[in-house]
Amino acid sequence: MPKNADSSVKEITPRSQDFSRWYLDIVRRAELADYSPVKGCMVIRPYGYAIWELLQQALDSRIKATGHVNAYFPLFIPNSLLMKEAEHVEGFAPQVAYVTHGGGEELEEKLVVRPTSEAIIGTMYANWVQSWRDLPILINQWANVVRWEKKTYPFLRTTEFLWQEGHTAHETEDEAEEETLKILDLYADVCEAELAMPVVKGRKSDSEKFAGALRTYSIEALMGDGRALQAGTSHNLGQNFAKAFEITFQGRDKSVQYVWGTSWGVTTRLVGGMIMVHGDDSGLVLPPNVAPYQVVIVPIGRENWRETVLPKAKAVQDQLRAAGIRVTLDERDERPGWKFAEWELRGVPLRLEIGPKDIEKQAVLVARRDTREKQSFAMDGLVPRLRQLLADVQQGLLERARRFRDDHTHRTSSYDEFKQIMEGRPGFVIAPWCGQADCEARIKAETQATIRNMPLGGRAPSGSCVRCDAPATVEAWFAKAY
Ligand SMILES: [Zn+2]
Repeated sequence: MPKNADSSVKEITPRSQDFSRWYLDIVRRAELADYSPVKGCMVIRPYGYAIWELLQQALDSRIKATGHVNAYFPLFIPNSLLMKEAEHVEGFAPQVAYVTHGGGEELEEKLVVRPTSEAIIGTMYANWVQSWRDLPILINQWANVVRWEKKTYPFLRTTEFLWQEGHTAHETEDEAEEETLKILDLYADVCEAELAMPVVKGRKSDSEKFAGALRTYSIEALMGDGRALQAGTSHNLGQNFAKAFEITFQGRDKSVQYVWGTSWGVTTRLVGGMIMVHGDDSGLVLPPNVAPYQVVIVPIGRENWRETVLPKAKAVQDQLRAAGIRVTLDERDERPGWKFAEWELRGVPLRLEIGPKDIEKQAVLVARRDTREKQSFAMDGLVPRLRQLLADVQQGLLERARRFRDDHTHRTSSYDEFKQIMEGRPGFVIAPWCGQADCEARIKAETQATIRNMPLGGRAPSGSCVRCDAPATVEAWFAKAY
């Protein structure tokens, strides 16, 4: 791939000037990801991967705490298996990559590079399940998947991406629905508690549901430019895949029944969402829970700072590290101002400045990345105060993002107003909808807005649909989306 013009980008495009350019500049300059020689595939660089790992740990521990276990299934799926569930095939066909040759020979049956694993996992479950005693199966997989994309965007949409995919099988429909919603709550909790990214939980319209699912639920977040991002999905598969893959069991009444399935996933896209929710014109702003470094120590001083300041800075680093705070010490031979800008770009939540005067006073200067507030902390009792401050930053970011989301959420039943909002400063629009797919398609064609989801426990609408004269059946959240 030719060297992209922005590989040497020094400045970050202002967010208000060009949001998309701003995002790409941050991804490159903060060394989160890079373009690769493979079209549509990105390289996740160590700093970006460290964020993903922290998020992955937060997800994995919650997935296990709710009774799930991890396993691993093959990357390749025989084409005939994918073909078994009709809607599933139709939904994924345009995005599927095939392997046709191996070991120098043409394969008898071409292999699909997994776009998702229902087909291969369903095939295995059919062998593993005999009786109701074998249920439920609660398995999660951490993996990469490939969906051929025409237009890609780092983290948000790439041909190959990383994710987790949960696949469960249950005895009853109620259990499957309970599982689907339990995971939706789990995803919302991770987004809000770890990424400080508020989300709206709800059900997808039929046109937006997963290929082959009975019902799809999603969490939707609002990005800094007023566009929505689908941040995770959880599907109640009903018995569709069980019927296609013959996943049957002998029930408590000895009758042979099909299992009820679910599947659910979140991806590296969450990293992109987090950037777009919190970042500013100076670069990334990382929530402490997913920050590879929660604290950076910058020694300040004249020429001899290595003798006068560095030993104390190292002692503070050791102290914080021992306390489990992720910390780095920048002892490069650069001006402090240059270092400040670098770490602001990388979004480190707290910066500790230590100079000769601070050492005299037995104190450090602490600067917050999110509010840019500075305060002096005594060395004595530093760890608990920093812990509290990190918690404050985490909470402050969530509240700020919530305010932004609420300020950009409008309720209307007027189609003129709906269109005006979508043309101007967009965001979520909550509006009554008739539930008809053709009406939904017209709204999309006319405004570019799609139904993000229909919140659980949302208000029952009165009157007619925002666009047509049919009675409204549901209240939907619309937005322009990534
Ligand atoms: Zn309508």
